[in-house]
Amino acid sequence: MIKKNRNLITGGSGFLGSHLANNLLKKGEEVICLDNFFTGTKKNIHHLLKDPNFELIRHDVTEPIKLEVDKIWHLACPASPIHYQFNPIKTTKTSFMGTYNMLGLAKRIGAKILLASTSEVYGDPLEHPQTESYRGSVNTTGIRSCYDEGKRVAETLCSDYQRIHGVDVRIMRIFNTYGPNMRSDDGRVVSNFIKQALKNEKITLYGEGKQTRSFCYVDDLINGMILLMESDFQSPINIGNPNEFSIRELADIVRDLINPNLEYEFKEMPKDDPKQRKPSISLAKSILNWEPKVELKEGLLKTIEWFKYNL
Ligand code: NAD
Ligand code: UDP
Repeated sequence: MIKKNRNLITGGSGFLGSHLANNLLKKGEEVICLDNFFTGTKKNIHHLLKDPNFELIRHDVTEPIKLEVDKIWHLACPASPIHYQFNPIKTTKTSFMGTYNMLGLAKRIGAKILLASTSEVYGDPLEHPQTESYRGSVNTTGIRSCYDEGKRVAETLCSDYQRIHGVDVRIMRIFNTYGPNMRSDDGRVVSNFIKQALKNEKITLYGEGKQTRSFCYVDDLINGMILLMESDFQSPINIGNPNEFSIRELADIVRDLINPNLEYEFKEMPKDDPKQRKPSISLAKSILNWEPKVELKEGLLKTIEWFKYNL
């Protein structure tokens, strides 16, 4: 019998994890989805429950677990600012203990492990666009620190497990990603704007909306994630869409796509909100032959269509 590829996805019922699970199952691989359902929902994986190659485990990654798999996709961690700031001590614990436990598992069973890291490791960046060699400008004591520093130490753990124990690690620095299966109440900018526009509410711009982000459609992101796992590249790598927009520009696009008559409401800028963010993806292009294909408007239209039935 041909051995199937056995995958463990931590955070598998969340936004990115559920897309990854779909993708791997479509390739005929086995998937164990491990989640504590803090921000993930069963709705995202409900359609997979009858698939004989799919298994669901309710578990918190801050506790160790013994499983036999070939690849670990370590995504478990709240990702939106309102969620990771809800219990910041738990967020740091999830990043540190969760990654420590998953690296321990990877070491014991000889599995490859991919860490879902983040562009937040660059903080409020002084280098633009952000290359992987940029070491970041991160506040250690602010309201975003639980997440930013949690991910930074998670990267450190991966690098030390690789150096000392030879664990086969992948470190993916994910930039802002959007698409179906995002929670409408996660407070992230794309979900907020679409939800507000569909409900004919005012669009909330923090500050003057001059800060920038670069938005990647989820299908592109997952393709990059799978290519990275399949590669043998063990250093951090940016995966994101380098097309940069101000938040005001994003609001204009969403408004024009849904209801051009909507008004804007300007709110206070959250503390430590990065002023600009744009990935350099030269490394991903050369190492993985990857680049995003979905333009912002095209991705937003797909996302809006999904949100119409999932508010
Ligand atoms: P999400 O909140 O939708 O998914 C995270 C999942 O992890 C959820 O299902 C949640 O219930 C689970 N989880 C949280 N804490 C856990 C714990 N202690 N034990 C077990 N499960 C736990 O977020 P997402 O957008 O899918 O992000 C997935 C990963 O990608 C995260 O690690 C995040 O930091 C990273 N990331 C995402 C983005 C993005 O734009 N979506 C950007 C950068 C990095
Ligand atoms: N933002 C906004 N209005 C909202 C939600 C977010 O103007 O309703 C801004 C936020 O201040 C930030 C950007 O949009 O500058 C992206 O926010 P998000 O929470 O999506 O992600 P992150 O700040 O982690 O990149």
